[in-house]
Amino acid sequence: MESTVPTVTILGTAQDGGVPQAGCGCSNCNAAFENSERVRFPVSLGVIDNQGGMHLIEATRALPEQLKIWADACGYESPIRPNSVLLTHAHLGHIEGIGQFGKEAMGCRNLTLVASESVASILQEKNLMTPFVRAEFTLDNLPKFQQGGVVFDFIPVPHRDDTSDTHAILISGENKRVLFLPDHDDWEQTLKSVGYTNPNDWFQSLGATHVLLDATFWNGEELPGRDMKDVPHPTVEDSLERLQQGGVGGPEIILIHLNHTNPLNNPNSSESRMIEDAGHSVGQRGWTVEL
Ligand SMILES: [Zn+2]
Ligand SMILES: [Zn+2]
Ligand SMILES: [Zn+2]
Repeated sequence: MESTVPTVTILGTAQDGGVPQAGCGCSNCNAAFENSERVRFPVSLGVIDNQGGMHLIEATRALPEQLKIWADACGYESPIRPNSVLLTHAHLGHIEGIGQFGKEAMGCRNLTLVASESVASILQEKNLMTPFVRAEFTLDNLPKFQQGGVVFDFIPVPHRDDTSDTHAILISGENKRVLFLPDHDDWEQTLKSVGYTNPNDWFQSLGATHVLLDATFWNGEELPGRDMKDVPHPTVEDSLERLQQGGVGGPEIILIHLNHTNPLNNPNSSESRMIEDAGHSVGQRGWTVEL
């Protein structure tokens, strides 16, 4: 197959539950029930390498729609069937679509699974490994998967390691590097684990040109009656403040993993304007960058 320019496409931008969320009548969910443009699928990315190899990051319950969004964004006329599936961790929203690769649906065989030992063992426990063969995924130094001119580096990040460990994924091509960081507990722990004091310095050390960043909650007021410690993610307010520290000329910041309660779901909210004014953006499905 002739060589093509590798691409990364955003296939979903919501937290695990998606928008609208089952049983919810909040203004964002109602808007999404009425207007399909306000629907957000759970986070997922599609990466095409320079040999045409297709690598899906996260397998959500919106997999059928997301494979179609991926094909449309990249101008493929036939449906996309990935060659490999990469998983950051085993929280339900990130693996809910795995069953679709099995005999009940796509009937895949020998699909490459790139996931840590603990994530793979959870799939094994749930009897979901039949379509997969595991890629060699060593845990000494930084785990790495390399295909058709694209390198996927798995970077451990602290995130409620109750079910499995969690990784961010740095996707590197010849010209661009995209850091996918959909879930982490808080900046203090993450920065400590990577050895930096502010996110920009960390991003620059990775050479990231784009960061797809955990933006689950705008602030702590979104879940009345629930302790934020039960749902650990840094707030967008906190991230914005920290992003102002550190070197200039940082990467492009694209906010993803939005909870249905997040005011960034509404493109007309004052919070959405604040993001724009800060020079960042809120992720949209179909967004594609050449690596
Ligand atoms: Zn998540
Ligand atoms: Zn809602
Ligand atoms: Zn999670």
